[in-house]
Amino acid sequence: MSSEAKSAENYVEMPKNLAELRAGIVAGTTKAADLASSYYERIEKINPRLNVYLSLTRERALAQAARVDEMAAKGDPLPPLAGIPMGIKDVLVMQGSPSTAGSKILEGYCPPYDATPVSKLEAAGAVLLGKLNCDEFAMGSSNENSAYGPVRNPVDTERVPGGSSGGSAAAVAANLAVATLGSDTGGSIRQPASFCGVVGVLPTYGRVSRYGLIAYASSLDRVGPLAANVRDAATLLGVIAGHDPKDATSSTAPVPDYAAESDKPLKEPGKAGLRIGVPAEYFAEGLDAEVRAKIEAGIHALQAAGCTVKPVSLPHTRYAIPTYYLVATAEASANLARFDGVRYGYRSPASETLSDMYRHSRDEGFGAEVKRRILLGTYALSAGYYDAYYLKAQQVRRLLAEEFLRAFAEVDAIVTPTSPVPPFKLGEKTGDPLAMYLADIYTVTANLAGICGVSVPCGATKAGLPVGMQILAAHLNEAAAFRVARAVEAAGL
Ligand code: GLN
Repeated sequence: MSSEAKSAENYVEMPKNLAELRAGIVAGTTKAADLASSYYERIEKINPRLNVYLSLTRERALAQAARVDEMAAKGDPLPPLAGIPMGIKDVLVMQGSPSTAGSKILEGYCPPYDATPVSKLEAAGAVLLGKLNCDEFAMGSSNENSAYGPVRNPVDTERVPGGSSGGSAAAVAANLAVATLGSDTGGSIRQPASFCGVVGVLPTYGRVSRYGLIAYASSLDRVGPLAANVRDAATLLGVIAGHDPKDATSSTAPVPDYAAESDKPLKEPGKAGLRIGVPAEYFAEGLDAEVRAKIEAGIHALQAAGCTVKPVSLPHTRYAIPTYYLVATAEASANLARFDGVRYGYRSPASETLSDMYRHSRDEGFGAEVKRRILLGTYALSAGYYDAYYLKAQQVRRLLAEEFLRAFAEVDAIVTPTSPVPPFKLGEKTGDPLAMYLADIYTVTANLAGICGVSVPCGATKAGLPVGMQILAAHLNEAAAFRVARAVEAAGL
């Protein structure tokens, strides 16, 4: 096969929308059990090529599907996600099922409890098919850091699906799940959503409980949905959002009806249209020309739909990558200290002393990128360097957040590209960690500032590679981001 023919290998098949599927189950024309089985058949056929699922939770899924079918047969009112087949990123724990976080160190670990977003999905009727591949401990931008092999992009299998929630994005794009959950610490939902041509949501910090999320950087981590369209993503966020007594950082703010909010036009009769900000800093050097052209077309579409568009200034953006990689690695070095071969997963077999056992378990259990980050983070936190690195990074983080607050006093949403480049080839950046880190340039700022955002498909390059638009909104204003995303989606670029 020539390399061109190879790169044409394409597994894209978008799932039906959630409302349509649910209506079939309510009407009894679709059985949840049949739907789940047909997904498992498709997974069996396609997963060996894409490496999206790390493990399947078939027994649990089929039991849940049977419950849904029973309710439907009795004519009971069905919950919002009744019978909807979904996949879960392997950083969220599910009771009794393998939860590896993409790491060898967690091989064989089956947690004794469910993550809150997982139990909320199930309580809403979702059928959870299995656990999805990701970069080890969610550290990466290409899914090539998984200890279980890379995920391939369903659009072009020679390319990466993005990371770290590469499995979650690819599963939706290849219709191996109707929707999925991912986690986003610096872009890990939005960037793979962009690379695979699906919708990804970064909820406001604290909007969704982190209970049961295997921590990467606790002050940045979020759990959010990926779906084939904006309305499905909005519905899913409505299900998983809300206060959780098990996560003290979760917000007590009431949860709006996000799906209904997303139905609102950008310009309601008698009111001014939504105000959109465009930051020049996100359209500077390093932005691919085709990506830029698509995002500009998206901005025009928003204008045509009744938005006012104006420039906003976010001058500290240029410090975002170093700031993020100091804060994230510092927190990661602390969070990952718990993996010592004693409590979870992998233990190195041949050690004479306890400290050797710790050392060898960590040395053999962690991959190269995770080790690099533990080293960086430990260094940034060490006595002599704390003020110069970690403290400084926290100060810059504050400035970035204030800058966003000022901008959101003037506009309802800020639009940017999600990624400066379209999906790149497998292996293209693995030798150059810094180049990989730069792929996160447009996404890390929202995590540092605590704000929310959505990545929505915004056309494709001439080669057919997806382009994503990032729509950022102020704390707890997900509704605005969904409305803007709906309009971009409707423009059909
Ligand atoms: N690519 C970024 C990193 O490697 C973001 C990862 C994430 O959001 N989990 O840290």
